[in-house]
Amino acid sequence: TRRKLVAGNWKMHGMRADLVEVEAIAAAAAAHRQIDVVLALPATLIGPAAAYAGPLAIGGQDCHANPKGAHTGCLSAAMLHEAGASVVIVGHSERRADQNETSQDAWAKAEAARAAGLRVILCCGETEAERDAGRAERVVQAQIEKSVPEDANGDWFTLAYEPRWAIGTGRTPTPEEIASIHAIARAKMRQLVGDAAGGIRILYGGSVTGDNAASILATPEVDGALVGGASLTAAKFVPIIEAAA
Ligand code: 13P
Repeated sequence: TRRKLVAGNWKMHGMRADLVEVEAIAAAAAAHRQIDVVLALPATLIGPAAAYAGPLAIGGQDCHANPKGAHTGCLSAAMLHEAGASVVIVGHSERRADQNETSQDAWAKAEAARAAGLRVILCCGETEAERDAGRAERVVQAQIEKSVPEDANGDWFTLAYEPRWAIGTGRTPTPEEIASIHAIARAKMRQLVGDAAGGIRILYGGSVTGDNAASILATPEVDGALVGGASLTAAKFVPIIEAAA
């Protein structure tokens, strides 16, 4: 059976003053050790947060696919690891939209992260137009095919299904729609990595809050949540951790 994983993604939020929130979230993680809790922070906060995170795993939100080189402004997976991160998000839809990242990029970043000793949360998910056109399943299958490394397993790899139209909008798919995509995602991963797919956690992300977390986390095939806005404060994030525990 797969342990539940609740991951927060602070995106471009978080100053040193907000480390009090990290501290409170770390305390909640320590109180609920039967689940895994991750907080993906801006790179500037990884070092300070890792100093007292305890069982709360600190993550980055992106890394470069190369181990080093002339890539101004970029961070390697090894740099994140050295700063104190143990996990990194790759392929987030905001990077696909803002930085034109592709599923191939996400694949290369996942491999680089693994080589540097990081665990990986790789994101996929359709746009609203794709869902309206009845293409959500096919889009997610194609993203998985191009981005999931063939040596992926549950020890280091997690998939996150984040429909783009649900991110930051307050709208979520129905539990049936979530279960359906997650089942399709697992079947596709089984084609790619065989039995290891059974150990890979699939998170749901997009407008998860303390109010809907219990029902989303009780949905078949949902192994946890990837949370944006509601991860920014302990007051909002801890109820989601508690719902998963
Ligand atoms: P929200 O929870 O703010 O919708 O963001 C989801 C997300 O993109 C997490 O990576």
